[in-house]
Amino acid sequence: MTNQLEQLYQQVILDHARSAHGRGLAVAEAVGHAHGQSHQVNPTCGDEVTLRVSLSGPGPGGAATLEQVSWDGQGCSISQASLSVLTDLVTGRSAEEAEQLGETFRALMASQGKGLDESLEEALGDATAFTGVSQFPARIKCALLGWAALRDALAKAGAASATQDLSQEES
Ligand code: ZN
Repeated sequence: MTNQLEQLYQQVILDHARSAHGRGLAVAEAVGHAHGQSHQVNPTCGDEVTLRVSLSGPGPGGAATLEQVSWDGQGCSISQASLSVLTDLVTGRSAEEAEQLGETFRALMASQGKGLDESLEEALGDATAFTGVSQFPARIKCALLGWAALRDALAKAGAASATQDLSQEES
């Protein structure tokens, strides 16, 4: 592997791809919870995901808590690892925090390999392993697939404001 490729395939990414957290769509839908689901595809690589969220607490704009994230997907190791890391990162957070983390991760993917301020990277935890991915424009969408699905699923659950289809984003 070249040094650049080593940066692309960090050990954290390989581990998460091998043993992905949250894989397998949850069927049990708790009464009183808000649910949202999103299907996203990344046509440039062939990655695909269906992601489901379950939230407790007050509705739109309130402090709804992301009780469960589950997903079913297929694709490259970057996309699958990103889904696994996302699941660990946002489960148990408020919808607002989850959206904020998504924004921070999108900023990381726009950093062209430079990374973000330490305080922001700290919030991302394992997701900072994807910093190297941001040097590869063709792979950025792989890493963002799960986050696009999360944002859309939260919107469908009534817990987020905006929704955007990954495949409609400018490349
Ligand atoms: Zn991919």
